[in-house]
Amino acid sequence: MTESPLKNIDRQIIKTLPKTDLHVHLDGSVTPQTVIDLAKEQKIDLVQVSKEMGIGDLKTGDKNELEEKIFKETYDSLMEYLVPFEFINVVLRCYEGLKKASYELAYDNFKEGVRYFECRFAPQKHWESDFDWLDIVHAVNDGMKQAANEFNAKPEIKNGKEPEFKYGIILCGMRMINQNMGKYFRYLYELHVGDDLQNLAAMASYETAKLVQICREEGLPVVGFDLAGREDGFPAEVHKKAFLYCYEHNIATTCHAGEAYGTESIKSAVKDCHVRRIGHGTQLFREKGLCDKKHRDGSPFSKEEKEKYISDMAEWLADNRIALEVCLKSNSQTLPDLRDLSNHPIKNFLKYRLRIALGTDNRAISRVSVTDEYERALKLYNIDKKALKNLCIDGFKASFFPGMYNEKRDYISQVIQYCKRVLEQV
Ligand SMILES: [Zn+2]
Repeated sequence: MTESPLKNIDRQIIKTLPKTDLHVHLDGSVTPQTVIDLAKEQKIDLVQVSKEMGIGDLKTGDKNELEEKIFKETYDSLMEYLVPFEFINVVLRCYEGLKKASYELAYDNFKEGVRYFECRFAPQKHWESDFDWLDIVHAVNDGMKQAANEFNAKPEIKNGKEPEFKYGIILCGMRMINQNMGKYFRYLYELHVGDDLQNLAAMASYETAKLVQICREEGLPVVGFDLAGREDGFPAEVHKKAFLYCYEHNIATTCHAGEAYGTESIKSAVKDCHVRRIGHGTQLFREKGLCDKKHRDGSPFSKEEKEKYISDMAEWLADNRIALEVCLKSNSQTLPDLRDLSNHPIKNFLKYRLRIALGTDNRAISRVSVTDEYERALKLYNIDKKALKNLCIDGFKASFFPGMYNEKRDYISQVIQYCKRVLEQV
């Protein structure tokens, strides 16, 4: 007997459920008010920054203006959606600024019942000559650790009735770089005369992959490497050296793919770069215009051949438990076709039994929380109690957990028991 979909479940129950966010960017989660506060503390004039960077055309730099021109309600493309990040990063280039942003991100997650999250950021965007690599990652970790310690002091955690609040850190390389991204990229550009930007981006992401290893040796909870940024015209295989370094050193990897491109981009991430998760994967089933597969003689695949190619790939992802980090609201903002999320391919993901981890992408830029995303998914996609439990638990299973595999299993067992208890109320 199949259970009925939980379309109108009480929001409080969603908040209480043990959830994860495996796809959340640190800079994209800094609120307009925090940007203003940090700018004030650091004596940074946001109107001037807007003018110099050509971002937002600010006149006053107050909260309303930031919400109207930087943290917009809708964006026309992924390219436009990526613009605000560089503006926000201007206030995240010192220990206090980065720590405060990290603390707030962790606090907001834990407060809405996210028991485990993995926050990602590109350390090179934060680099200053007096704010070096390990200082940067320590600042992020110190902020998150502070929030975790506060939440884990609760009696229900101490007496083992509820699972602990935990987190991991993922360092990002960038597919596309520009001089607005900070001093590191500016110097890289100036010092390597004649190198094209993709080569420089690949060089930078290889450095980031090595930093992951250094952080792990330092005992920091850095759990993986990601490749982020503009996808069209900036293929993942350019960054193969970084991914192979991770593969060699047992570093877990994920990659933004299938956000602006289709199955071939996802396949490249999995087969060329050995990733264990895919950031978004939204276009996996988009045959029209996005699957450009050709035969050896150059003739294009027929419609049936494309469908077979796509469904074989989906089967392979499902069978190998390669998780898709699905961020619904962000997809609706960056992909005009998905303004109406009832058209989202998540229905196909569920049909193929792909492992899905719901995430926010950017809490502030997308104006979204994990609870919002669960609520949205439940309203739109006929999810019953069993599927809801799987959705919660799959996030924990797909995590790059900062600890031994046995510890991860024990933690997940505890999460499953707690999840069942919460769902008994439904
Ligand atoms: Zn993302």
